[in-house]
Amino acid sequence: MKNTHAIAIDLGGTNLRVALVTREGEIGERIKVPSYERLEGSLMGAVKQLLANGDVAGIGVGLAGLMNKERTGVEVSPNLPAIEGTPLAERLREKSGLPVYIENDANVAALGEAWRGAGRDFRNFVLFTLGTGIGGGIIHEGRLMKVAAEIGHMSIIANGVKCSCGSYGCLESYAAGRAILGFAVSALEHDSESVLRSFHQGNIYKLTPEDIYTAALDGDILARDVLREAGRYLGVGLANIINICSPEAVILTGGLVGAWNIYIHEAIREASRRAFKQLFEKVKIIPSSLGDNAGILGAACLVFCNAEKE
Ligand SMILES: [Zn+2]
Repeated sequence: MKNTHAIAIDLGGTNLRVALVTREGEIGERIKVPSYERLEGSLMGAVKQLLANGDVAGIGVGLAGLMNKERTGVEVSPNLPAIEGTPLAERLREKSGLPVYIENDANVAALGEAWRGAGRDFRNFVLFTLGTGIGGGIIHEGRLMKVAAEIGHMSIIANGVKCSCGSYGCLESYAAGRAILGFAVSALEHDSESVLRSFHQGNIYKLTPEDIYTAALDGDILARDVLREAGRYLGVGLANIINICSPEAVILTGGLVGAWNIYIHEAIREASRRAFKQLFEKVKIIPSSLGDNAGILGAACLVFCNAEKE
């Protein structure tokens, strides 16, 4: 069988991965792209290397940022400013002679879950990526909705804090990793008692969301309160999405999903209070089954699924 692989590229806010993926969704050779510096050059090098080692049908790219209308690159990418406005699809096509498909990274992760992950059993679901910020992707009637799905930037507090996107009171400013740290540091600056003070030789500015969860699991009251507070806000966002999209499932992925027992439980409880009862009863709120691999698999799916359509 010819063209049995896709070159899958995952350029998220924190992860840069390039890999060969088979039509069956098996991840083969991976190449680590060393850093954001000279990103385009390193990417082209990685693609060249994989082209030599596999029989390739096309290149799929998941990219952090707001896609341009033609879906050939990103218009705005706070995490990858070096490629803002770059005609990435065109450059990759020129280099490889292959079809190139580009999509927003959270959308691609949703596609990955739909193809080979926790979304396989659902025709309609919404993916939340819970990390430093919050992203989203929507699968409708088995297909990726090619919309922005910037779930993290739904405003949940009209007069809330200013967001980097220009709006106020965005969900991610209250419910994501950065917010969790902000709540914790602010409480610690105001002399709250907590085991967190013993972390990082007492440097509270070095705390990570994982530290907060570790402390919460140890019964630390401040850490538990912080995670519950962020969880409540996440629940507001969940309820909004459930009411708007009436999905069969909401799939949660990203580093913060590790804090399921406190943070996500609280979010689900809050959503149950706010969403339409009939809609909430039908929705399954579940963790991703692919984790970090959703982006790579989704990028491969862009190639294989688009090729099937043509
Ligand atoms: Zn925002």
